[in-house]
Amino acid sequence: MFWDEELETISQNKLKELQLKRLRDTIGRVYFNVPFYHKKFKEINIKPDDIKSVDDISKLPFTTRQDILDNYPTGLLAVSRDEMVRVHTSSGTTGKPKAIFFTKNDIDRAADLIARCLVMTGMRKNDVLQNMMTYGLFTGALVMHYGAEKVGILIVPAGPGNTERQILLMKDFKTTALHITPSYALYLAEYIKSKGIDPTKDLYLKRAYLGAEPYSEETRRKIEDIFGIDVYNSYGLSEMNGPGVAFECEYKEGMHTWEDNFVVEVIDPDTGEVLPDGQKGELVFTTLQREGMPLIRYRTRDISRIIPERCPCGRTHRRIERIFGRSDDMFIVKGVNIFPQQIENVLMSIKGVAMNYQIVLESLDNMIVRVEIAKDLFDGNVMHLVNLQNRITEELRKEILVKPKVELLEPGTLPVSEGKAKRVIDNRTL
Ligand code: AMP
Ligand code: ZN
Repeated sequence: MFWDEELETISQNKLKELQLKRLRDTIGRVYFNVPFYHKKFKEINIKPDDIKSVDDISKLPFTTRQDILDNYPTGLLAVSRDEMVRVHTSSGTTGKPKAIFFTKNDIDRAADLIARCLVMTGMRKNDVLQNMMTYGLFTGALVMHYGAEKVGILIVPAGPGNTERQILLMKDFKTTALHITPSYALYLAEYIKSKGIDPTKDLYLKRAYLGAEPYSEETRRKIEDIFGIDVYNSYGLSEMNGPGVAFECEYKEGMHTWEDNFVVEVIDPDTGEVLPDGQKGELVFTTLQREGMPLIRYRTRDISRIIPERCPCGRTHRRIERIFGRSDDMFIVKGVNIFPQQIENVLMSIKGVAMNYQIVLESLDNMIVRVEIAKDLFDGNVMHLVNLQNRITEELRKEILVKPKVELLEPGTLPVSEGKAKRVIDNRTL
């Protein structure tokens, strides 16, 4: 079923026409109303009329995270501050966060995209969505909330944490779907197991939406198996509204990006050159309908690729593959480039490994992988532990070409974060 069948299945030609119209409109608005863009466009001698096709977007300059910070808080607004009805900030590392403003129409459009996503995955009016993302400055919970409301779904705005209460809410309100970070989902799975709850008998869950941080296909499978549900990947970032930028359909093979709302490009992160569909690189998005704070060619630092093939579901909007990692998540050990997700892939595919892990970087040559394993393994034969440790070490070495030190821990030893998980601890001193 579709939320907006005509738009979701629009022909690629018509979609390109619509994109061009909206792109030209957006460029005109930022050129005349946002001094930052006016200056940038002037520097390279580009005028709105120079954009004659969607591909001409490659003539435009990028917007970076630093540009948003430099213009904090209101420097990138394209209409008066008085038109703004909401501000969200994105998880800044240190110092100032990135502020993203929304007009009333912007909020409504963001909700509309979520409505498409939820209906696409089978959600209907009679469903109950327990929203376990953090409510507040973070876009994750509120944007999903408004979208679900639009569909008419009952929302349980639980926020994260307090796991015992989450389970009560799931039982009492007959929750059918969860919106949750992968790391909290893994924790919840472990908790449910330890309490002897059988999700297929004691709960009413059918599906879960996992996003806000990278996770592996193995993690998805693990959650699906434990809860007996369908898990859908949900990708978004505050700069582009938060959730609803790209979402899996029933086929769960890549996430549809809503191309009537965004121009999606994949670039070579080193040269900035646009890569053809199918090639892996950094995702870049341009907003096509945003009034308050349009962004042109925003560099996400997220690594993925556009899937060139059409999706069997009939939607024409192109899909992107599961995010491989962030270009700034990558670390180097013994001269080898490693993404945390490669390690997660390996760990989650090994029997006996539980739900939580941490990567500790000790020096340029040494890393430790601390991994929680099933509790009963500690009560059994010590040789089993040694074998498991050796197996994990060997499987990791095969994947990342570096032999880490592996530490096995009891479940519950490592910290669980309520927001995004911090997987890598960097103790290196330069
Ligand atoms: P924020 O702006 O704080 O919501 O963070 C957005 C970032 O979270 C994105 O740029 C991605 O790095 C990450 N992220 C969000 N959803 C996913 C997902 N489904 N898979 C991988 N990473 C994600
Ligand atoms: Zn599809």
